[in-house]
Amino acid sequence: MSKLRAAARSGRGLQQGAGEGRKSPRRCRKNVSSHKGMLPPVSAQQSAYHLFSHPAEIEAFRKNLLAWYDKCKRDLPWRKLAASESDANRRAYAGLTPGCVSWEQEVNELWAGLGYYSRGKRLQEAAQKVVSELAGQMPATAEELQRLLPGVGRYTAGAIASISYGQATGVVDGNVIRVLCRVRCIGADSSSPAVADRLWDLANALVDPARPGDFNQAMMELGATVCTPRAPLCMECPVKQHCKARCRVEKELEFASRRLLGKAASSCSQAPDIEECAATGSCSLCLPASEPWDSSLGVANFPRRAAKKQPRAERTATCVLERRGPRGQPEYLIVQRPSSGLLAGLWEFPSLALGPGLKEKQQREALLAHVQAWAGEAVARGRLRHVGEVSHVFSHIHQTYVVYSLLLGRDPEMASGWRDEMLERPAFRWVTQAEFQKSAVSTAMKKVWKVCERQNCEGRGSGQGCKRKRGADPSRAGQRKVEADGSLPPRQLSLDAFLKAPAGE
Ligand code: SF4
Repeated sequence: MSKLRAAARSGRGLQQGAGEGRKSPRRCRKNVSSHKGMLPPVSAQQSAYHLFSHPAEIEAFRKNLLAWYDKCKRDLPWRKLAASESDANRRAYAGLTPGCVSWEQEVNELWAGLGYYSRGKRLQEAAQKVVSELAGQMPATAEELQRLLPGVGRYTAGAIASISYGQATGVVDGNVIRVLCRVRCIGADSSSPAVADRLWDLANALVDPARPGDFNQAMMELGATVCTPRAPLCMECPVKQHCKARCRVEKELEFASRRLLGKAASSCSQAPDIEECAATGSCSLCLPASEPWDSSLGVANFPRRAAKKQPRAERTATCVLERRGPRGQPEYLIVQRPSSGLLAGLWEFPSLALGPGLKEKQQREALLAHVQAWAGEAVARGRLRHVGEVSHVFSHIHQTYVVYSLLLGRDPEMASGWRDEMLERPAFRWVTQAEFQKSAVSTAMKKVWKVCERQNCEGRGSGQGCKRKRGADPSRAGQRKVEADGSLPPRQLSLDAFLKAPAGE
């Protein structure tokens, strides 16, 4: 990976001559079949009301959106690179790694707590494959990117192919879903496969073949800054004249105000003349009959998603194991989680999933047996100190950590038999407080740390240790400063910094 990184930094591309023979995005226009706005045939259950049927309307939509984007787009790092980097291969590589260009461990440290727990690993696998199997060349179409690179899904593939290689292919992310569902009044569950397919068809039909990368970014930008979830700025929207949800709201408002003013009394007893889907009742893209249009929501009637499943409740016992380091400084044991599954590859205090219905005494015994090998000495159950509980909600799990601490009396590594027992254990490290803070640990473990720290302070009253500035670990004196809230200042490299040629090259 260092080869790949150095190559990117040097400005030579991923290999000698990388990118040669490839056209710039503006010239290379490999079109997908739907770029002229011709959608695949609509099923009987999906009315044309939810599509863009007229090429002239598609043209106008593109023109309005891109004019707005040219004027209002935000200044984001990858946009600068896309505009200034002439090597398509390097543009594509940067697109694969937006905002971060380091490898698994470093990526995990930099991203710790952001929720991107397995992406560092997949990013590394994809980059390794580019170097070892694809001769340093990024695949140049959305189809190949998705087929050849691990961890690259439809969205990432479409974004790289359109932005870096100029392929006329759409992208669909959460922002685009919101915009499309509103402009075409798509109220069926947007997470269902059938609706998702239709949204991809729409995105592919709308994308501008002359500026696919800009068009896709404009759609995402519109969703992020104007067509926001709760307070969309419809008056400022560049595509409001194409938006059926907006049109419906305007008609309702007009009807209500005419009624209020007593105008057109004869027609005011009737519902406003709102364009409806011809297949209402049987259309699989309309709002469901069980949850029809709600006037109080306005355009935020769209999109709709099926109710999320409640996260399941789990309990885990966690032990903060402390020893004195070589210079007498406190050190804490962290172990690495398995390379797959929840929080893959991240570090944590030794932890043990607790079965349902365990009493406190049984929890203690189970945890003690789990940490015994690391302790290197026989530990009486009473030495395990209960610190408190920490709750953390992952996307699908409501996790409660039951936190204990254990202060060891002697260096566990000196204990007889310690090394043999360690052979069975996952990777582990003894770290100082400052090292813990910058390790690849999850937000949940940082919460565990804070609970321990708070209890230590309470135990010492207003003692000196509590007054000491957080992160001012004496073993790290003079090194990187820790922020007041215990976090480290951001170390993430910008793309500019990453791609800057090393001195002497
Ligand atoms: Fe979204 Fe309003 Fe624009 Fe429609 S008019 S796309 S609802 S911001």
